[in-house]
Amino acid sequence: MPHVFGAAPTGRSKCRGCGEPIAKGEVRFGESLPNPYAEGEITHWFHPLCAAYTRACLDSIARRLSKGELKMSGWLDEVRVRVVSDAELCVFGNPDALLANVNTPDDFLGLEAHQGHKL
Ligand SMILES: [Zn+2]
Repeated sequence: MPHVFGAAPTGRSKCRGCGEPIAKGEVRFGESLPNPYAEGEITHWFHPLCAAYTRACLDSIARRLSKGELKMSGWLDEVRVRVVSDAELCVFGNPDALLANVNTPDDFLGLEAHQGHKL
């Protein structure tokens, strides 16, 4: 099974990144891996941001937040990043919608409507 994005059908899954529960209906990312104990695959679930950013980012994020620096563009200069191509992103949906800039509740509502999701 390929990696997946989707809404959690229950509140029982736990994020492999932060260890916190993933609430029912919350968007989660599933990483499919070979099952080390049996045939088939297992899925590790993550909050989307926990899947994208490792714990190695915590110190630089905390430092920037303490200074009131909230823009992601400046922060990306401080950490190691990998550029993902449009071809890789298209597997998960429209790259413009997946990487939309969300700064206000209206931005979020517009994105939700664009993707056909409900709050
Ligand atoms: Zn998490």
